[in-house]
Amino acid sequence: MRPIDMRSDTVTHPTPEMRRAMYEAEVGDDVWGDDPTVIRLEEMAAQRLGKESALFCASGTMSNLVAVLTHCTRGHEMIVGDRAHMFLNEAGNASALAGVHVRTVPNDEQGRMDPSQVEAAIRGVNIHFPRTGLVCLENTHNQCGGTVLTPQETASVAEVAHHHGIPVHLDGARIFNAAVFLRLPVAELAEAADSVCFCISKGLSAPIGSLLAGTREFIAEARRWRQAVGGGMRQVGVIAAAGIVSLETMVDRLEEDHQNAYRLAQGLANVSGVEMDPERVQTNIVFFQVSAMPLAELVARLEERGVKVWSGGGRIRMVTHHGITADDVDETVAAVREVVAGRLPKSP
Ligand SMILES: *Cc1c(COP(=O)(O)O)cnc(C)c1O
Repeated sequence: MRPIDMRSDTVTHPTPEMRRAMYEAEVGDDVWGDDPTVIRLEEMAAQRLGKESALFCASGTMSNLVAVLTHCTRGHEMIVGDRAHMFLNEAGNASALAGVHVRTVPNDEQGRMDPSQVEAAIRGVNIHFPRTGLVCLENTHNQCGGTVLTPQETASVAEVAHHHGIPVHLDGARIFNAAVFLRLPVAELAEAADSVCFCISKGLSAPIGSLLAGTREFIAEARRWRQAVGGGMRQVGVIAAAGIVSLETMVDRLEEDHQNAYRLAQGLANVSGVEMDPERVQTNIVFFQVSAMPLAELVARLEERGVKVWSGGGRIRMVTHHGITADDVDETVAAVREVVAGRLPKSP
């Protein structure tokens, strides 16, 4: 039996069209600027995001790190949401590798930061203080449940940062999910940010990679930093080719993942013992809580039934993607019902 793997949308496999494009890709040494397939993907990404230039990186984590290294210098402080991937899930790279101090501002349930709290966190001039060098946003917001920032919400934080001469980086690992949800061109969601990155290896189903975009000058400097962290790859058109197919064929279908996530959320909300509000689900990420049993046990029982999920922070996360059908969703809901029902107190 094929497992239903909803741990993440990173588990997606390349499509047959991607494998063909990879096989046929025209390549060159990208560190020398010679790989036509990488150049094409970078140009496509820059154009989609409405930025001058883009850089192909090995992962979203590398794009974010390279952005921090490019915007900041040692001893700078960056402002980031307290539930942000860049704060929680990137192995402390801003401090460990970039020498950048991290200051958090609360994320609300939608993954937003209050512009006035961002402003209050910006450092004044004082010999004791680090200098604020960057403000980071995340869209869609992973830990807040795949929630979407509107262009206005992004602009309201960017306005505050720019007023103080501070650049804004947008971690848009899943920004195409946000664009599909809002039915807006992705460039509108990235407009207020000075730099933005997105992953091709998540819902867009390519095997590897992320694109970082910004001004021509920013990307030229970012290219140096990518080299410094060992991210200069050679005949990397072999994987960039899959990213081109991602942008050409895998964006519009994200709508299907969102419909499946909503179907999943509605199904789960009807299972007694499951706590969740399906109306909070906007894109492809579903979080819920179950108090009747330890989550590690729920994860193990689901895995026995062929359903793989992730748990952390007292919650279960399920992510829909290209490998998940509506039938898989219904099977998953049935599996959760069966497992949780066995642990609920018997009604009289
Ligand atoms: C997955 C993710 C990243 C990191 O991407 P990797 O390619 O896994 O390194 C960054 N930010 C967010 C919001 C993510 O969900």
